[in-house]
Amino acid sequence: MSAAGLLTLKIIPLTIGSRSSDIRQLDCEVLRSRRKTLAIHIKHRKVEVRTPLHATQREIRAFLEGNKQWIEVKLREESVRYRESLRIEKGRKIFYRAREREIVFQENLTHKVIVTADQFIIKGPSLNTSRAREQVESFLLEKAAKNLPDRTRALARYLRVSGKLKQVKLRKTKSKWGHCTSAGVIQFNWLIMLAPDSIIDYMIAHEVCHLVHMDHSADFWNLVESVCPDYEYYVQWLKAHEHRLWL
Ligand SMILES: [Zn+2]
Repeated sequence: MSAAGLLTLKIIPLTIGSRSSDIRQLDCEVLRSRRKTLAIHIKHRKVEVRTPLHATQREIRAFLEGNKQWIEVKLREESVRYRESLRIEKGRKIFYRAREREIVFQENLTHKVIVTADQFIIKGPSLNTSRAREQVESFLLEKAAKNLPDRTRALARYLRVSGKLKQVKLRKTKSKWGHCTSAGVIQFNWLIMLAPDSIIDYMIAHEVCHLVHMDHSADFWNLVESVCPDYEYYVQWLKAHEHRLWL
């Protein structure tokens, strides 16, 4: 192959799967740049291999072959996360307060959400997916408004930083559960109301402790631990499950 051909190579097919039933071809996109090493990125079920400008096709192929198992594991993890992601649809599952419940739509004149051990029942007139979703959102926002500001202020009082806490805001954001500014504004993503109380308490503890320490230093974590001794477990819980709470 000519040098030009080598540089224009964009897609390398990779055969993955071990049993005849799951063997398939995967197109890996090659992105060349002024980097020194090869790396693989996986997003939205697409595999990208980032390479230095002059990596040869043989090098790239060998690199992909060598990382085949890792690619398969990542693709499988991604598809599990997608399957578990929260969508408010009849018959789907919602992971509410650490328990999977079936989403049920029930025709009703007034709006209501009822949670039982196994079901998450959305009651309302002419329910469809988007109306049900709006209803779930107002259910969670209302719960958040009832709970989060009071609990946050109570902890701020206990830690004697009431004076620093100026405002508690509730907002749905795309990537964060909580946030604390140096001006003393604490913001919570109200989707956290889908999580169990212990997780919510940890979130509150985390943000209120930022009123004392604005960083994630050892002093900060010691203070978190003093009010929330099992915080490490809650951090892990959020890492493992948060993809099921984003709506
Ligand atoms: Zn923080």
